[in-house]
Amino acid sequence: MNIRLYNSLTKQKEEFKPIKKKDVGLYTCGPTVYDYPHIGNLMPYVIWDVLKRILKVRGYKVKHIMNLTDVGHLTSDGDTGEDKLAKASRNSDQNAWQIAEFFIKVFRNNLCNLNIDEPTKFLRATDTVKQQIEFAKILDKKGYLYKIEDGMYFDTSKLKDYGKIANLSNVELQEGARVEKIKGKKNPTDFAVWKFTPEDITRDMDWESPWGLGFPGWHLECSVMSRMELGDTFDIHTGGMDHLTVHHPNEMAQSEAVTGKLQANYWLHNAFIKFDGGKMSKSKGTFLTLEDLRNKGFSPMAYRFLILQNHYRSPLNFTFDSMQAAQNGLLAIVRELAFYGKPKGKCEKFEEEFYDAISDDLNTSKGLAILQKVMEADCKDGAKLATILKMDEVLGLNLEALIRNALDISDEAQMILDKREIARKNKDWVESDRLRSKLIALDVEVQDTSDGQRAVQVKL
Ligand SMILES: [Zn+2]
Repeated sequence: MNIRLYNSLTKQKEEFKPIKKKDVGLYTCGPTVYDYPHIGNLMPYVIWDVLKRILKVRGYKVKHIMNLTDVGHLTSDGDTGEDKLAKASRNSDQNAWQIAEFFIKVFRNNLCNLNIDEPTKFLRATDTVKQQIEFAKILDKKGYLYKIEDGMYFDTSKLKDYGKIANLSNVELQEGARVEKIKGKKNPTDFAVWKFTPEDITRDMDWESPWGLGFPGWHLECSVMSRMELGDTFDIHTGGMDHLTVHHPNEMAQSEAVTGKLQANYWLHNAFIKFDGGKMSKSKGTFLTLEDLRNKGFSPMAYRFLILQNHYRSPLNFTFDSMQAAQNGLLAIVRELAFYGKPKGKCEKFEEEFYDAISDDLNTSKGLAILQKVMEADCKDGAKLATILKMDEVLGLNLEALIRNALDISDEAQMILDKREIARKNKDWVESDRLRSKLIALDVEVQDTSDGQRAVQVKL
């Protein structure tokens, strides 16, 4: 089966047909680097990682571009409020540049902990301001921009089909109630392309432009970077469902106004994480970082496993019970696989069934069910292991390393195993069982085979 993806633009699942035969251009809206990402912020990057991996398995070469927003994203997510980086800087002894630098490192570390392959290229908003100004100059020349007190705005009424990606029946394409009205805006959906630095304020980040000193609007960078790296029209654009109403319509509007073409052919959107049915919030103490999970004894790989159990277009309801269940599930898989010995041969038919599940709009939960089926299949252990490791090239659970880790027995456990070996030779079953209990306390599972003891110590 070829890859099928749910396209927000047409609101249906479509067979994926890239512009070029085997090269895929993929753009992902990246993070605003002003704080630690919470686990919900990180979730989509796991999903798009699986997308990249299945594309590769299906023979495509993927060029993946991600922006890092280090300027211009305002606290309202619209055109009012303070720049998130400037605000973070006001509350710390670091300037906006240092804050961006620090949180880019944190973000990249988090990706690494979740075994997410980095994009082909990260681009920082502040590194592309020159190109953003050039792009905005074209918009201006074509008559899409107008000036009001706080910046240059895009006149959305000049595009016939502005907002076509938003589901108009569900979502009001208007300024939300939380967004203050901006004086002088011609249409509620108009948005800032360039914001002026107010005269009474000194910013760490601003630039000269034909319109005055200021900084680019949040949506501009994605239109500019995607075009720079992937061309006028590219294959797949990914982001969160919250982008369906403002950020993506605005990105598309800018790109179409400049090029006269559709920015991307497939638009994929992930649903969000809920914390016990509610929103993750700092004030309720439900804002969890990867580090918080670790401090509670959960490994990042167990979190990746939890994400894969869910379909990306349905909200993931996070609870500590579901997190614990995911961790136990992953531990059980690694424990069993570690007893399988060396990978050899393959368990027929499951591999293609698995690829088909993932190719069907990233049905990762079905993929995991197939992995379980392989473990229960009537195949040799080596063949099961080889098949599962192949599947893991798409799931990215890093099973090979986890198995290796499980077979690396601690010195303490090895000493007990050695004693037990002697007890068994002496047919001292009472001592042997006593030592087995001691091993269990160290998370070591022993199997007695004709070749002697085999032990696995699972750690995540
Ligand atoms: Zn974007």
